[in-house]
Amino acid sequence: MGAQIIRGTDLRETILEEVAAETVKLKETHGRPPGLVTILVGENPASLSYVSLKIQTAHRVGFKEVQENLPADVSESELLALIASYNQDETIDGILVQLPLPGHMDESRVIHAIDPAKDVDAFHPVNVGRLMLEGSRAPFLPCTPAGIQEMLVRAGVPVAGAEVVVVGRSNIVGKPIANLLLQKGRAANATVTVAHTGTRDLASHCRRADILIVAAGVPNLVKPEWIKPGACVIDVGVNRVGERISEKTGKSVAILRGDVDYDAALGVAGWITPVPGGVGPMTIAMLMRNTLKAMQLRVAAEAGTADRL
Ligand code: NAD
Repeated sequence: MGAQIIRGTDLRETILEEVAAETVKLKETHGRPPGLVTILVGENPASLSYVSLKIQTAHRVGFKEVQENLPADVSESELLALIASYNQDETIDGILVQLPLPGHMDESRVIHAIDPAKDVDAFHPVNVGRLMLEGSRAPFLPCTPAGIQEMLVRAGVPVAGAEVVVVGRSNIVGKPIANLLLQKGRAANATVTVAHTGTRDLASHCRRADILIVAAGVPNLVKPEWIKPGACVIDVGVNRVGERISEKTGKSVAILRGDVDYDAALGVAGWITPVPGGVGPMTIAMLMRNTLKAMQLRVAAEAGTADRL
């Protein structure tokens, strides 16, 4: 039997409808929608395409959206001053600085400058710490790990007690998804192993996994014989392996592949996510959900029914 394909594109639609419905309610009760500012420094093509997707999606769900496109040679102090101004802006709930930043900037200093209550990427140390301490009860979860957990829930993949193997230990995917799934709680409580470039015999770790989450950035790293029959395979990798001409637009577009040999894995896995159309759309949906939540938490704090972050 072939694997069940978990399509992030379908789940994204459901989540965006939920966010759009809550946005309408917020507008009615508070006279304004959630506000998101996207800050892009320079013109890295991949970053441009990620930011434009985030902007389009923010418009779709009815948010106020502000774009700040800064030249690649803008100084770090100018960027920090811009962030400080949005920290004070009462109509902005979420501040997203698209990474990576140019080499003359200190990414960590920039992330520290964002008010944790507006840190909808959840990269600020306060939000990283809260994920570690509170798991999915933390106010903001980083978007890609949150999207992965949501996919597991909505596809009905059993997580409690499962052997989870995460390939990759980055701060934005590997470490936070491992943290999220090992916590006690809904769609968690798993036994988690994190593998990385220092891991001996990666294949043997992968073969034990009931849920295999791969975020290495290496096309076709995971072979079908590394997958336990019936396992759930979440392929986070997005690798540009070439270019093709789009039939729709006539323009050149990137050919994307994941970290898993998808066609071969289909015959072994129980569930699998495609690339593109898997984790990527969920990441953006979760960014919208975090921005909505940022406003909900802020108005609740103002009304005295929740703590200020
Ligand atoms: P990263 O480069 O920061 O980290 C990659 C990790 O994989 C490292 O910890 C490294 O130790 C490990 N690794 C690399 N090669 C390995 C190997 N051969 N064996 C074992 N471990 C290995 O990358 P990242 O930011 O975590 O992103 C990983 C991939 O996920 C990239 O392709 C990226 O584009 C993609 N990504 C997708 C989304 C999405 O929304 N779909 C979001 C973030 C990242």
